[in-house]
Formats: sequence, structure tokens, C-alpha cells
Amino acid sequence: MIRGENILVTGGSGMVGTALQQVLPGAVYVSSRDCDLTDPKETLRLFKYQEPEKVIHLAARVGGVLANTKYIGDFYNENTSINLNVLEAARVTGVSKVLSLLSTCIYPDEVEYPLTEEQIHNGPPHESNYGYAYAKRMLDIQSRAYRQQYGCDYVTAVPNNLFGENDNFDLQNSHVIPAMIRKIYEASVNNRDVYLWGDGSPLREFTYSGDLASILVFLLDNYSEECPINIGNTEEHSIKEVAEIIAELIKFDGKIIWQTDMPSGQHRKPSDNSKFREICDVRYTDFGQALTKTCEWFIMNYPNIRGM
Ligand code: NDP
Repeated sequence: MIRGENILVTGGSGMVGTALQQVLPGAVYVSSRDCDLTDPKETLRLFKYQEPEKVIHLAARVGGVLANTKYIGDFYNENTSINLNVLEAARVTGVSKVLSLLSTCIYPDEVEYPLTEEQIHNGPPHESNYGYAYAKRMLDIQSRAYRQQYGCDYVTAVPNNLFGENDNFDLQNSHVIPAMIRKIYEASVNNRDVYLWGDGSPLREFTYSGDLASILVFLLDNYSEECPINIGNTEEHSIKEVAEIIAELIKFDGKIIWQTDMPSGQHRKPSDNSKFREICDVRYTDFGQALTKTCEWFIMNYPNIRGM
């Protein structure tokens, strides 16, 4: 059998889904155009038609801080519906394995660092994204409950900040790296300086979407525990360092002006991936190389990019 046959990937058109297509070309990739997963009947129809043996569940309404706050009810509603429908359709049609993605941003706001998996439910998430965060936390609960009652091998994995080709570059809706790439590139072509929030000192962890894709394939065959597993690259980079690397890659001649009157955010949010490292000898792509690939892709495809 060709690797990937009988594997269904939801969210197949997104950043992670398109990266996965490179390492798992034989799987079936679906987007919202193929099936609206917020609709239980459509979702069940998809599963009955495809008869997948395994599912990688990536579909979600995803966004940056602005979108998460402005549309907090929609983020809760859509993500809860998608997750509920996907896991239930999988259970009813006898799918043997579902691997779903959570996110480190769903951990409690007040938590002991580094983030370890058993702390996920130990307190409320940050108020800016509690709609998305609780919907994702329920995905963990549903996976555990189905394991307990029905014996389903449904697992969840927790990446940190992701970036890569095919990301969303909408400034109202994007994460930190795609937003900085777009701002610096557009400032460069218009011969302007670029203004970025805060002082650039916070440290963050970033994982390249191509690395995540390989990790998902590994987990599908090698992870069957009830507890979520942190899988992100735990190397930290300051926002300032990231901006400077992007500016160099884009050959930006202007000035980066840090708006120190705007919030910088928490200084660090480190996560602990030691559980994952125990089962996988993971080699993450060098950060500079991954950023280079992402910037090159952005420049090649601009302005025909999601979020323009
Ligand atoms: P994208 O926004 O790039 O892609 C989202 C995918 O979900 C698209 O394929 C989209 O389809 C699909 N989708 C959205 N709504 C529906 C719906 N109602 N019915 C069917 N499909 C739908 O997300 P990413 O690739 O960035 O994220 C993948 C996963 O990783 C998500 O679960 C996310 O929560 C998680 N994650 C992401 C992080 C990040 O930094 N991006 C960080 C941590 C976790 P269409 O293209 O048709 O809209």
C-alpha cells in the first residue's frame, strides 16, 4: 500500500496542511471547500465517503491576537463545532487513529514555566483568546473521553508558534512572523521605515511548518498516549532578532522603529518538549534557513498570497 493511503487530512489547504502534502503526498487533503466541518451531517458524509483508516485533524479557525479577541465567540463556536464533528464522525465510522493539534497558546495564563503537558487545564487561558483556547482544550477532553469509553486511539499534539510557506499574511489576522515579513517587505518596496510594536526584547519559540509536517507523520505511527505531547522547537529567539534576520533577508535599507509605548508582551513563554525528545530523535531545521525559505517564498509569490 502507498504510504498515506487511507489517511484523511482536515485543514489540508492551510499552512500545515500544504507542508504535510510534501511529506505525505498519498493522503487525502480536504479544505472548507470540500466540506464544511462545522456541519455534522456534511462531516459524517465526508467520513462515510472517504472511509479513512487514520485522520490528521488540522482544520481550525486560526488567527493572531487581534482576530482572536474581536471574533472570540466565532473562534469558540467554529472550533468547538469542527472538533466535535470530526471526532464523532471518526468514531462512528471506525477510524482507528486521530491525531489532532492543540497549541501552546491554550496553556493557562498563570502557569509555571516551562510549559509541561499536565498543566494544560490548570487555570484559565489568557483573556484575549479564551474562545479558541477552550475549544482546543475540549479537543483534548473529547479525545480522552473517547479513548476511555470507546477505546479510540485519538491523540493530541501541542506545537508552539508556527511559520512557513502558505501562511496567512493578513495583518489583522496573522501571527508575529508573517506580520513582520509583510510589514518589512512592504516598507522596503515603498522606501519607508517600519514600525513594530514593543521593544523587541521578548523571547519566543518558533517551529517551521515543514518540521511539524515530518513530526506529524512520526506521531501518527509512534504516539498512542492519552496525554497531549509538546512537539515544538524550544529554541528561543527575541522578536528583535527575528526582525533583523527578516530585514537582512529582504535587503531592507530603512530603519526598524520599535514603538516602546506599545505593549511588548510577556518576556518568555518557554515550553518543555522533553517527553517528545524521549521518543523521537528530532532535528529541527536551522531557524535562519527556515526563515530564508519562508521569505523567499513570500517574495516569489507576492502579492498572490493569502491575506493580501
Ligand atoms: P490555517 O489557517 O493555515 O489553515 C486552516 C485550515 O482549516 C484550512 O485548510 C481551512 O480551509 C480549514 N478550515 C477552517 N475552517 C473550516 C471549516 N469550517 N471546515 C473545513 N475546513 C476548515 O491553519 P494552520 O495550518 O496554521 O494551522 C493548522 C493547525 O495547527 C490548526 O489546528 C491550528 O490550531 C494549529 N496551530 C497553528 C499554529 C500557528 O501558528 N499557525 C500554532 C499552534 C497550533 P480553507 O483553506 O478552505 O479555509
